[in-house]
Amino acid sequence: MNSNNAQNLQTCPVCGVSITEDGQVNFSNGIPGTRARLYARVCQYAQKSECINQETKLIGEIQSEDGFESGEDLHIPVAFSSSR
Ligand SMILES: [Zn+2]
Repeated sequence: MNSNNAQNLQTCPVCGVSITEDGQVNFSNGIPGTRARLYARVCQYAQKSECINQETKLIGEIQSEDGFESGEDLHIPVAFSSSR
């Protein structure tokens, strides 16, 4: 009954990526990442109940580098003058 190419591989029907039992996310291209990275890049935008990567306990803490690279369209408020 064992599928020999995957151990409990889950595929998110929304995002189209597979997640291994130990939480490694295999993107369709690029290097494998984490649930946090998947969430930061895909799932938080998908927001579908079918998405299997919605549990914050499993996702864990999202690091800033999990998102898309900086230098895209970040609007940083420059109005904050450093008050001291
Ligand atoms: Zn998903």
